Amino acid sequence: MKYQVNHFLLIIDEWYLTHIKRAKCFICGNPATLALGNGLYECEDCAYIANEMAIEQSSQK
Ligand SMILES: [Zn+2]
Repeated sequence: MKYQVNHFLLIIDEWYLTHIKRAKCFICGNPATLALGNGLYECEDCAYIANEMAIEQSSQK
């Protein structure tokens, strides 16, 4: 139940960022759906790439 509420809030948050705030990805300028904090927003593509890079870097140790 708690998970469902959190998931619902996440959808609202994405909708708000994309349609009301019209947040733009700080990397590529596309409509952003993820808030990073410090006033920065990121689109799903860049979040995916950043995540892939982080995995790559951590596996090089
Ligand atoms: Zn982006």
